[in-house]
Amino acid sequence: MNKYQIKTHSAQETIDLAEKISTLAKPGDVMTLEGDLGAGKTTFTKGFARGLGVKRTVNSPTFTIIKEYAGRLPLYHMDVYRLEHSDEDIGFDEYFNGQGVCLIEWAQFIEEFLPEDRLKITITYINDQTRLFEFEPSGDHFQQLAAEVLV
Ligand code: ADP
Ligand code: MG
Repeated sequence: MNKYQIKTHSAQETIDLAEKISTLAKPGDVMTLEGDLGAGKTTFTKGFARGLGVKRTVNSPTFTIIKEYAGRLPLYHMDVYRLEHSDEDIGFDEYFNGQGVCLIEWAQFIEEFLPEDRLKITITYINDQTRLFEFEPSGDHFQQLAAEVLV
């Protein structure tokens, strides 16, 4: 499996990167965001939302698990941190197979529910302003997307 690495040197660079990726998003896309608190998962989502033309401000959905935003495609922003010790299926498939794009923070906690085709994004804190993004695309669509926008 191809792996793509990109370093960003500011929150703005992360926003720009996410915005670029969002231009190739399709209905039913699932992108997972893994990385410690403060890594930049929500910042990435803000940029992605901007690229989809979402007008509302995107905030961390920690207390609601799923927040929906209207854009070129609907954006389903999930933060499944609270599901770490639960194996509850809260109806993920409806979102994964829907008309929108799912961005899932702490996706490792719902690993068993994730579709095979997805864009796995792992963010590592390097220093105050620098983050390492690692992208692991699975399936044709995400491999093409990655080859187009991540090189
Ligand atoms: P998470 O959702 O992973 O907990 P957030 O996106 O909420 O993380 O927070 C990331 C914080 O790190 C923000 O305050 C952001 O401004 C800051 N930051 C600094 N450099 C970067 C960078 N290169 N990419 C993303 N965020 C960055
Ligand atoms: Mg967050």
